Amino acid sequence: MMNMGDSYAFEKDRLIEEINSELEETHELTGIAKLSSPVEKALRKVPRHEFVPPHLRAYAYNSLPLPIDFNQTISSPFIVAFMTEVLAVQPEDRILEVGTGSGYQAAILAHLASQVFTIEVLPALAQKAQNTLNRLGYTSIQCRVGDGSKGWVEEAPFDKIIVTAAAQEVPPDLISQLKPLGRLILPLEDVFGEQTLVLIEKDSEGNPHMRFLLPVAFVPLR
Ligand code: SAH
Repeated sequence: MMNMGDSYAFEKDRLIEEINSELEETHELTGIAKLSSPVEKALRKVPRHEFVPPHLRAYAYNSLPLPIDFNQTISSPFIVAFMTEVLAVQPEDRILEVGTGSGYQAAILAHLASQVFTIEVLPALAQKAQNTLNRLGYTSIQCRVGDGSKGWVEEAPFDKIIVTAAAQEVPPDLISQLKPLGRLILPLEDVFGEQTLVLIEKDSEGNPHMRFLLPVAFVPLR
């Protein structure tokens, strides 16, 4: 069945190679040298060309961030893959995403976890992502419009939380909506405007521990 009828199969092979070489390059910083097989499979399954503007489809399987509507961006496949690996998603996980954007990251997570809850602050973008995800048959993803820094109280707590817009501090509501042994990954911006991907892990007592992983560039959290 693999890649049968997939007209982007060659592009996807090349993309996987590119992501693996970027992981290899950053391996000393991150401790992740190579895609795991579940994440690689998810990257092959999700049609990224459906999540980018039609005139940019030719670039959908390059490891580049691309512009989407309203000056927002779909993150590079490397960053999506990297953040997904760091979360160490388990099949039974309930995951919260802040910053739906195109819906691509949510789709990747939906292949790995049982439920994905995603929040987008821009209503038109949320609607568009919802349409794309519905059209592609992603029934385990729930979308909502709002300020994701407040989390999603009704569905909390979460096993994993991923924020795809840069914050100046870790939103306290997100920490409190994370389960013990849960993981939260987010880009944090310092006073100089430099961004770093940060992993926050709760221990079994629920105390959060923070690790700085990688310099990055995300659009700001509003
Ligand atoms: N994960 C997305 C990329 C996100 S770009 C993808 O796979 O395509 C960051 C998104 O975060 C933008 O769409 C932006 O509008 C949204 N955003 C910014 N601040 C937010 C907030 N406080 N709550 C929810 N979404 C927010």
